Amino acid sequence: MTTTVAASWLLPGADRAAAANQSITVDGGKITRITAGDGDGTLVMPALANAHDHARIARLSQTGSYDVPLEAWLPYLTLLPAVDPYLSSAVSFARSARGGVGAVMAHYTRVQGLTDFPTEAKAVAQAARDVGIRMALAVHCRDLNPLVYDPHEKLLADLSPAACECVTRRFLRKPVAAKDQVAMVETVAREIEGDGVTVQYGPAGVQWCTDEMLRLIGEASAASNRRVHMHLLETQYQRNWADRTFPQGIVRYLDGIGLVNERVSFAHCIYLRPDEMELIAERGATIVVNTSSNFIVSSGLAPLGEFIKRGCRVAMGLDGLAFDEDEDALREMRLVYNVHKASGFDIRVSGDELMRFATAHGRFAVTGFAEEGLAPGAAADLLTLDWTALSAELIEPDVPPFDLLLAKGVKRHIKDLTVAGRIVVRGGQVTGIDLPALEGELLATLRAKYPTTADIRAAMPELKSALRRHYTGPLYCA
Ligand SMILES: [Zn+2]
Repeated sequence: MTTTVAASWLLPGADRAAAANQSITVDGGKITRITAGDGDGTLVMPALANAHDHARIARLSQTGSYDVPLEAWLPYLTLLPAVDPYLSSAVSFARSARGGVGAVMAHYTRVQGLTDFPTEAKAVAQAARDVGIRMALAVHCRDLNPLVYDPHEKLLADLSPAACECVTRRFLRKPVAAKDQVAMVETVAREIEGDGVTVQYGPAGVQWCTDEMLRLIGEASAASNRRVHMHLLETQYQRNWADRTFPQGIVRYLDGIGLVNERVSFAHCIYLRPDEMELIAERGATIVVNTSSNFIVSSGLAPLGEFIKRGCRVAMGLDGLAFDEDEDALREMRLVYNVHKASGFDIRVSGDELMRFATAHGRFAVTGFAEEGLAPGAAADLLTLDWTALSAELIEPDVPPFDLLLAKGVKRHIKDLTVAGRIVVRGGQVTGIDLPALEGELLATLRAKYPTTADIRAAMPELKSALRRHYTGPLYCA
């Protein structure tokens, strides 16, 4: 079916001029033609990509975990009871779509576990298809350091017997063998890939995976060409651990086992050193920067300008922690720009680089397709904003539309989101599922099941203090 999208302004992508009054013809999920047309009060740009997320089921203030540093925050996720994975994923993906995202990385670090994993993965894939966004399920693999990045015996000994029992039961289960976790990824891929859904290896991070696990993933990815997504150097404590563990350097270690290449994307990378940035750039791996998340869980600030200067491919991630807990990818884009753009007249991140960061590079990390921007032959992944509202207060009539987008564009300006030619958000409403109804159901379920995690809730103050002592103690005071 052929459809047309009218644009008062078209922002086709990085390094391409904005064009007024355009008509975009879409057929078979792709753009077939762009011609002069009549504007209809909209600004059309490429759909945004969120290249690091976790299909999270709640915002962090909902469990009282706002303002807790990452290492102490991660255990708070266990306060959330297990829920139907279709329900949680559908809400998460629909919120992403509503925030302007057409392609998302679901690094699935929280398995609900109510069924076997392949069954759960099918539900997650179904949720993505029902919402209509492109989704990469990065299957979580983890078999090391369940509590801290080091031996945990001393930390356990510091807890009261009741807290120790709870933490042991909740966090210290014997992991599934590395080879079985890695084999599971291919099993899941066979069952769910296609129709906008892909599967990646999702090792949690070097501090959470054995050498055996990471080597198996490096080998399997090279053999199958399957992509890999993982956390890397998110906090100063991870850097400290990495330097103690890998005298040759953590990035050189990863490179040696086939995990620094075009197929790989790394979330965060705040504590990379210049030579490590250069190696990542040379190998063509992607760095995913999560500015809001890094602020909120006190991780630090990624040197985005340095990444770009050294030729790294960089993409945007929201990490389930948007600045206002509203999954607004347009605000994230503006925040990133204003935090990193320049020091005085010294420009560090240009508008074109920001556009690539928020669209094409993230899409590449999620889907593996390197195409850039809106042109005949490209996928019809379009974000349509309310230009009439954006421009309502202009005095100077010739303000560039991209400037206006960066100055004030937010989620409420989003009218439509089109992914592969399908309208997944229309007039600000998600079309494929009933988001308000599912949000209501999810919240009611979480509240009803909250008592099932009362044990860890009781242990949390002690655990939080013990974690603070651990990461401010002798191991980390070098
Ligand atoms: Zn993350």
